[in-house]
Amino acid sequence: MRAAGLIMAAGRGKRMGAALPKCFLPLAGAPLYAYSLRALAAVPEIGVAVLVIPPDCSRQVEEHLEGMELPWPVQVTIGGENRDDSVRAGLEALRTTSPEIVAIQDGARPFVTPQLITDTLRAAEKYAAAVAAVPLADTLKRAGEDLMISETVDRTSLWRAQTPQTFRYELIVQAHQRAEKENWPATDDAMLVERLGHKVQLVPAGEGNMKVTTPEDLERAERLLASRGTMRIGQGYDLHRLERGRPLILGGVKILHDRGPVGHSDGDLVCHALGDALLGAAALGDVGVHFPDTDPAYAGADSAVLLSQVAEKVRTAGYRIVNCDLTVITEAPKLQPHVAAMRARLAEALGITPEQVSIKAKTDEGVGAIGQGQALACHAATLLEACA
Ligand code: MG
Repeated sequence: MRAAGLIMAAGRGKRMGAALPKCFLPLAGAPLYAYSLRALAAVPEIGVAVLVIPPDCSRQVEEHLEGMELPWPVQVTIGGENRDDSVRAGLEALRTTSPEIVAIQDGARPFVTPQLITDTLRAAEKYAAAVAAVPLADTLKRAGEDLMISETVDRTSLWRAQTPQTFRYELIVQAHQRAEKENWPATDDAMLVERLGHKVQLVPAGEGNMKVTTPEDLERAERLLASRGTMRIGQGYDLHRLERGRPLILGGVKILHDRGPVGHSDGDLVCHALGDALLGAAALGDVGVHFPDTDPAYAGADSAVLLSQVAEKVRTAGYRIVNCDLTVITEAPKLQPHVAAMRARLAEALGITPEQVSIKAKTDEGVGAIGQGQALACHAATLLEACA
């Protein structure tokens, strides 16, 4: 496969409010666009790269590129009035090399990985068009100007498109020519290919492949880069009193028993201890801060659902869950028959595999409140990896 990388770095980045164009702002000392170049350079199939820049930046870019030691010379091209013009200028610059596939990469996404680029290349080879994307995590609301919600939009099957957006070269050239001729507006390149009636394959990416749009994003990117690869440990603990006649839900699994935990939510202390461990590892506070028991919204809440929201917060903060280890202390009922179901349910809530979740059961040998069946407790430990 002869593939090319096309890095879009021509935007001014108005929301950044900086004197430099957005992709030229320094991240750990290097301009933002340089990170995409390095990722492309680590993909063997990429044999040529074009960098599209604003009109007045050529000298600065050439000086910088000289120091980069890339496997190929970078063709620097001046962008146009808007993003579509700039992409067309970049595609035109590739005309002489005429690659089979081109990966169009936003220069403001510094955390793109060689693996993600490779995945989109393979998908584009097979389907002609492929786009890195993440499934939508937040609930979507439609609202009018009065900010009153008129509808909750079903988010299943909704994805956020990122870059790289990777295409057969001739297909994306044709899509852009058509768009120019017929004045189609576009917010990304895939749209134009879709309008030609072509299918576009989604390639699952991570939240880590963030786009730097605001000064806050740049600060977050600095933090992520500084902490990349570091591990963070967290621990959590919870205890609930037991009362006759209440349901017993542990680790999101309903267990038949004559008593269950007293609590504002469903009292699932396994989820609470684990949630605290995860939030603790990321230094994001605790379950009580995020889901206060004074808030009627959480009365009888399904704690496994709250746990999946905790996992989302941890991911958004730039971490990947490595593993969780739990010790549940209970005199009765016997937990062993339920451990497999609990591991599966917790893994599902956290978006990880059951192999990453361990559950151990202990008794207190008849000693104290737990030993006498008046309460249940859980200890949790977890490890996070900063993944930028
Ligand atoms: Mg609790």
